[in-house]
Amino acid sequence: MTAYSLGPLLYEGKAKRVYATDQPDLVAVEFKDEATAFNAEKRASLAGKGERNCRISALVFEWLEARGVSTHYLGVEGDRWMLVRPVKVVPIEVVVRNVAAGSLCRQLPIAPGTPLDPPLLDLYYKDDALGDPLLTEARLERLQLVSSGQLQAISELAMAVNRGLRELFGSVDLELVDFKIELGFAADGRLLLADEISPDTCRLWDRRISDQSDRIMDKDRFRQDLGGVVEAYGEVLKRVQGVCPQPRVYR
Ligand code: 5GP
Repeated sequence: MTAYSLGPLLYEGKAKRVYATDQPDLVAVEFKDEATAFNAEKRASLAGKGERNCRISALVFEWLEARGVSTHYLGVEGDRWMLVRPVKVVPIEVVVRNVAAGSLCRQLPIAPGTPLDPPLLDLYYKDDALGDPLLTEARLERLQLVSSGQLQAISELAMAVNRGLRELFGSVDLELVDFKIELGFAADGRLLLADEISPDTCRLWDRRISDQSDRIMDKDRFRQDLGGVVEAYGEVLKRVQGVCPQPRVYR
């Protein structure tokens, strides 16, 4: 028995569908098996990816909530559905980097694998058509996307998420290289962590493996055609499940 019924599709993204429900303060998110990379130029369907990402995200949200991070998460239902609070999404992709990788190394003379201490915070304007361009402080001010107080809150939340994630993944021998989060404002004005946190949105390296390709446990396996994408996501889930309670079922 569920305590809600599904309403119309509100939004379909690359990895998720978001549905209204019969309750104004509740939306349902379905995690899809589709994988995309390079601004959706590369696409595939990977059976089981949605289910793994839904489970990992649920456990991560609960872990972070227990450490004082406010999220949109309310619970899971079935294998690939998550119930969340509706938010007004901030059109900024917030990336935190602990180790240099990916676009940072393509854009700056920093060798892949270089530790970044303190972690680097990069903000991007969330717009696929524009290729999610990097934001500067001046560009942020020009676009007036957020106030300076909200920007401060976003930075603090991103760093709190980074601390929580490093603690979680570190405890299961996964190095958190970098990650992207999305944030939103709830109806009561609270800034909440939204979207998902999964191997689609984080770089994770297996500390038990030294080979630089074999240790990749995230979407870079798909981006770089390394194979074993769903298997790697499954291993991340297995390890995280080992240190987290079962996710709460939404009722
Ligand atoms: P990069 O800047 O190297 O492309 O990405 C940095 C981190 O943020 C990586 O963990 C990457 O997976 C994540 N990330 C950045 N942009 C996106 C995006 O548009 N979608 C997803 N799923 N992850 C992203």
